[in-house]
Amino acid sequence: MTGKIIINAERCKGCGLCVRVCPKNNIIISKKSNKAGYFPVEATNTGCTGCCICALVCPDAVIEVLRDETGKIREITNSKKKTKTEMIKEKR
Ligand code: SF4
Ligand code: SF4
Repeated sequence: MTGKIIINAERCKGCGLCVRVCPKNNIIISKKSNKAGYFPVEATNTGCTGCCICALVCPDAVIEVLRDETGKIREITNSKKKTKTEMIKEKR
């Protein structure tokens, strides 16, 4: 299973929680600040499994996870603070 994350850098506060929990060390803190003055995170997208832990832990729900699972792309978001199961929806 492979995955990819998309981070809304302008809404990220750079708290680093997602960096700490990612089992694949796929997330790093950027050297450039966003418009709000925070240093947001960036994805290296190397080794991401789409496990969704980063999206679940983010207090500001700014991480979107794309997962390639048996040929189907699943989009996982945490925008409404749903549970992991509720977050997974199939994309056509
Ligand atoms: S989905 Fe999992 S592997 Fe991918 S960046 Fe998030 S925590 Fe890391
Ligand atoms: S947990 Fe969310 S707000 Fe904190 S650094 Fe990661 S993406 Fe940014």
